[in-house]
Amino acid sequence: MFDVARVYDAVIIGAGVVGCAVARELSRFDIKTAVIEKEPDVGWGTSSRNSGVLHSGINYGPGTRRAMLSVLGNSMMDALCSDLKVPLRRTGKLTIALDENDLPGLEKLHEQGKANVVPGMELLDNEAMRRIQPGVEGILGLWTPTSAIISPYGLTIALAENARENGVDFYLSNEVTSIRKNFSGVFGISTRDAATGEQNAIKTRTLVNSAGLRSDSVSRMLGVGGVIYPCRGEYFILDKRLEGELRTLLYPVPGPNDPGLGIHLTPTVDGNILIGPSADYVPDGQREDYSTTIPVLDILRREGQRLLPSLGASDYIRNFSGNRPKQTPPDVGGNADFTIEETDVSGFIRLQGIESPGLTSAPAIAAEVRGMLARHLRLREKENFVPRRSGLDCRFADLPNGEKIKLSRACSDYGEIICRCENVTKKEVRDAIENPLGARTLKGIKYRSRAMMGRCQGGFCLPRIMRMLREDYAFREKYVPGLTERLRTEP
Ligand SMILES: Cc1cc2nc3c(=O)[nH]c(=O)nc-3n(C[C@H](O)[C@H](O)[C@H](O)COP(=O)(O)OP(=O)(O)OC[C@H]3O[C@@H](n4cnc5c(N)ncnc54)[C@H](O)[C@@H]3O)c2cc1C
Repeated sequence: MFDVARVYDAVIIGAGVVGCAVARELSRFDIKTAVIEKEPDVGWGTSSRNSGVLHSGINYGPGTRRAMLSVLGNSMMDALCSDLKVPLRRTGKLTIALDENDLPGLEKLHEQGKANVVPGMELLDNEAMRRIQPGVEGILGLWTPTSAIISPYGLTIALAENARENGVDFYLSNEVTSIRKNFSGVFGISTRDAATGEQNAIKTRTLVNSAGLRSDSVSRMLGVGGVIYPCRGEYFILDKRLEGELRTLLYPVPGPNDPGLGIHLTPTVDGNILIGPSADYVPDGQREDYSTTIPVLDILRREGQRLLPSLGASDYIRNFSGNRPKQTPPDVGGNADFTIEETDVSGFIRLQGIESPGLTSAPAIAAEVRGMLARHLRLREKENFVPRRSGLDCRFADLPNGEKIKLSRACSDYGEIICRCENVTKKEVRDAIENPLGARTLKGIKYRSRAMMGRCQGGFCLPRIMRMLREDYAFREKYVPGLTERLRTEP
């Protein structure tokens, strides 16, 4: 798998939404690109642990990268998601002043929005807000129609798989452990295979550090500075029963030094509602500790009850957390701007402190990185670049009946439901197993197909998926050569 003689033109460390957006952007050009990721699949860091909101750009100081790249990234998403077949819903968002104390904060957001050229903003009184979201409380709201929702891991996987289809190499389960730059200007990267402990090596002319919560330790490997302070956000996921109750995004007005945007309700593209996120700095050793805690979950439960009084105890189906890679320490709070720069080490680009709105900004960050790399590489557009991702345009369950019947006749695996909660067919699970990246985990199947993500959390479909993995000869042989023969002959 590792070709020690090969010198890549560009290597990206970290396969979150940003690293994968950079990879997909570079896959448009006639250069050799690779991504190195320490986890067994893409998007297992912060990119699968957030609210999944495409922000409009009202929350960030004028002139900052967060402001410019979120407005630009948001505007790029319709075309990108259409090519990648990723569902996106323009729900709009109401940021609500509950009483007069919130008005100066709301006015500031409105002014920032104007300076950042956020499209379509409106100030609405309570009656106008209630036409958008019945029953909503508050004296004044700022309406931003470009705010939207998306599956953050769905987008990350789609970017990576399309980049792979266009020739980018992915080295999963490989943690970068050291980097050297030699006299001829080539970077030598050492990695450790997470499963076997084996050491591998990759060479490249340019290097992009997109390692999220660990971007500071990757930078230090080349003597470049910067410190990340992890700040945890916890969530509850609510049952789909409540889907219709929330038509738009409802946010409070954040305080000036709040490390997040405040606890809120967020509908998801899959029909669940999220409550969260909290914002609490955690010790350095817990950067990738994604625990949830009883005191915070109690706060979320109380907030949820206040915001959505019809919530019952059985509506809480799961909880999770994500850690923001902050550049501001706990005693300062608030937010620093994104760091996106070519460092003093020529050809080494560092992306650091990409907290919210990093998901929204990912395609715009990728375009900026491409511009920086163009100073080092000759970027000639490929003639055979395929922008559209292969596969169905939407989930099988969302197709019109006529289309479903046609597909089931052509492939009987479309006629068998494996996950009853989420209506996932055997063919969709099979496609997830045989993904272009070669990722091989149950979580990878879950994120790609939505099997195991419904109300019963895999109670029904997990044994069926395990049986598919066990019985599917092609799958066994592909990943464990010789296993079929061993199972046949061994007692
Ligand atoms: C609670 C919360 C809510 C948020 N809500 C939103 C939102 O609604 N909208 C929005 O726009 N943004 C939101 N964000 C921000 C958004 O999630 C991030 O900006 C984005 O996911 C960052 O992506 P990334 O690719 O930079 O980092 P990551 O997704 O963390 O990816 C970095 C990758 O690098 C890998 N890595 C690290 N070290 C190494 C190494 N040594 N070798 C190999 N690989 C390595 C990691 O395993 C990881 O996969 C939120 C963030 C949080 C925490």
